[in-house]
Amino acid sequence: MNPLFEQQPLRFECTRCGRCCVAGDGYYVYLNTAEAEAIRSYLRLSRRWFRRRYLECLEEGELVAASGPNGRCIFLDSEGQCRIYPVRPLQCRSYPFWPELVRSKTAWQREARRCEGINRGKVVAIDRIRKIINACRAERD
Ligand code: SF4
Ligand code: SF4
Repeated sequence: MNPLFEQQPLRFECTRCGRCCVAGDGYYVYLNTAEAEAIRSYLRLSRRWFRRRYLECLEEGELVAASGPNGRCIFLDSEGQCRIYPVRPLQCRSYPFWPELVRSKTAWQREARRCEGINRGKVVAIDRIRKIINACRAERD
């Protein structure tokens, strides 16, 4: 069966509530090395300090943003805004159009309980959704 986004229009408008930047155990913000370098440069930090303060390496060798207090992303400021918004990683830029979230109505509606921007605002063009999904798949391969 076709994925949900091929079956019906999907609406999304981010309210910048910050909920998707706070997570529990087992949730990570994955970064590739180019994304990490772009963030480091944006924050104007030394490589050593940035790595020590902001990055973690999982057992499988994947690079992730370090966890902040209470599951908050380390890059989320006290006002609930992303401190690195212009250079946020693909994982953040592509949300909520992740392949696993736009696969089925059940998955999309379940995620809508977490993200108030889902089903809000204008319909997102299908070409844009396809492009985002392809970028996600390419990054994960
Ligand atoms: S949870 Fe949804 S609406 Fe809130 S900041 Fe994240 S993407 Fe935007
Ligand atoms: S990098 Fe920015 S957008 Fe991504 S989870 Fe962290 S605070 Fe949110």
